[in-house]
Order: sequence, then structure tokens, then C-alpha cells
Amino acid sequence: MSIIVDNLTHVYNSGTPHEQVALRNISLRIADGECVGIVGITGSGKSTLVQHFNGLLHPTTGSVHVDEIALTSQGTRKAHMIELRRRVGLLFQFPEAQLFAPTVYDDVAFGPRQLKLKDSEIRERVHTAMRAVALGDDATLLYRSPFALSGGQRRRVALAGVLAMRPRVLVLDEPSAGLDAEARDELYAQLLNLRVSEGLTIVLVSHDMGEVANLADTVFVLANGELRLSGPPEDVFQRVDDILSCGLLPPPLAQAVTLARERGYSVSPDLLTPERVAEALVQARQTHHDQAIAATPPAQETPHAS
Ligand code: ADP
Ligand code: MG
Repeated sequence: MSIIVDNLTHVYNSGTPHEQVALRNISLRIADGECVGIVGITGSGKSTLVQHFNGLLHPTTGSVHVDEIALTSQGTRKAHMIELRRRVGLLFQFPEAQLFAPTVYDDVAFGPRQLKLKDSEIRERVHTAMRAVALGDDATLLYRSPFALSGGQRRRVALAGVLAMRPRVLVLDEPSAGLDAEARDELYAQLLNLRVSEGLTIVLVSHDMGEVANLADTVFVLANGELRLSGPPEDVFQRVDDILSCGLLPPPLAQAVTLARERGYSVSPDLLTPERVAEALVQARQTHHDQAIAATPPAQETPHAS
């Protein structure tokens, strides 16, 4: 399912004293099955942009196409809106704040019930979604209150609720905000799984470049409502001055590789895991060492004193 954003501008409270231009002339494409990262500091326009993908917001000018469904300032037909919400699942920032049902089961089943599916189908979807977020092992969990769970578990229940709608596109707005490192790594491992097993198109919003580095095929960087940078992470991360001008920092690993390259080590810029960077640095050091030895002139033979 492809998403095409064409010259999108979004203005909040247009024509009032509180007018706020949140997006300016954004154009980008997200291909079917792609995973993209949308990065920028707070207030750069990330949430505004992604809320156009499932029709929560409409363009002030320009358009967004999700396959054949068009969103423009003219609005969208009701049947198309329903279909759009089905195809594009959006996990809001701090989604656990929206859990409301008395049990985990009811929360995850909420969307499928809206679709008026049969009970057996709803049950199947709830169980599958709970397994996809690694909460499927403990059956009693389904009948507990969402408020009795840990923060990481609640976040995953919210994600299960989105997955139970069986979307083709999954949009996650700062999904790891406020989670500890372990819960964050688990969440990302599950996203990677979903991508591989379901072939979902994934749109990952973050204010941290390092977070999207391992998962995204393409990174889009927003600043002040404008699209400033786009491309594969390994290309974007090398544009250090442009990244700094957006108020961001390249991921620490990318910074280490850039510094090593500046100091003459031939390390490939597309290394984004600690293991690969460490391996490449050891290799580069060895090459450096071998070259230094090869360039040293052979020692002069000292004549024997007779
Ligand atoms: P981000 O998700 O990158 O933090 P947002 O898309 O939330 O950025 O916000 C972009 C800009 O739009 C900010 O200046 C913000 O204050 C403004 N904004 C966001 N939501 C609203 C709203 N509902 N009404 C008015 N202005 C808003
Ligand atoms: Mg936001």
C-alpha cells in the first residue's frame, strides 16, 4: 500500500489569531512494504503529518493518496474514510492513555467489534494480536484491567488493539517514548517481526535518529514544518551539518564512523550496529598497521666492526 504526499500544507486555526502553519509544502512517497522513519524535534510537524495518513486530518492545500484513496481540502467520501481507517492503523503517542475498557480483552476487541465481525472472528483476532506483541502466553492477562499492567505491557496492549484491525500500514507516533531500554528493545523486536511476517508498511515517528536507524529503509527529517532531508539512513546520517541545523544529532554510532573516516580510516558509512562498527574499526586498524609497516624503509645493515 503506497502513500503519496504531494505539496501538503496544513494550517491549524486558519484565519484566526491562533493560526499556526504546521506543515509547508511537503512531498514524499512511501512504497508498499517499506519502513520509513519520520524524525524531527518537538513541534516540527511529525504528528500533524502522520495524522493525514489515516484521515484524522485533511490537507489545507495539497493532497495525500493512500493507494486510490485521495485526501484533499475537499474532504473524502464516507465510504473511503471507513476503508482508510481499516487500512491504516495509527498508534498515538502515549496510547495507553486511551485504554478505557474494563479488561484487556475488551480493549483489544474494541476495533473489531466496530467492524461488526462475528464473535469467533473477534476472538481469533484478539488472540493473534496479543501473540504478535508477545503477550499471548498468559491467558489470564486478557481478563485483567489494563490499568493493572506495567507501562510496557500497556503500550503493547494498545498496539495489539491497532493490529486487531489488521491494517496494511502501521503508523507509530513516538512508540517508545517513556519506555525503559528493555521495553523499547522488545517493542522494536516485535515491529521487526511484524514487518517480516506480515509485510506491513511501517511509518515510525521519533525525535531520535538512532531509534529509526536499524529499522528504517528511508528517513525523512522535518524541521519547522518543512521536509529538510530524506534518503537511506546511512546517507542522511552523514549530512552532519544539515542534521544539526534541524536541531538534531546524528546517532552516536554514525558520529563515531564519521569521525573515524575524517581521521583517515576507511570505514564504510552504512554500518549502523555496534557489532559491525567494532568489526570494521578492528579491520581498519589492522589495514592501517599493515600499510604503515609496508611503507617503512628496511633497516640499514650496520657493517661489522672488525
Ligand atoms: P511534533 O509531532 O513534531 O511534535 P506537531 O505536529 O504536534 O509536531 O506540531 C506541529 C506544530 O503545530 C506545532 O507548532 C504545534 O504547536 C502545532 N499544533 C499541533 N497541534 C495543534 C492543534 N491541534 N492546534 C493548533 N496548533 C497545533
Ligand atoms: Mg508529536
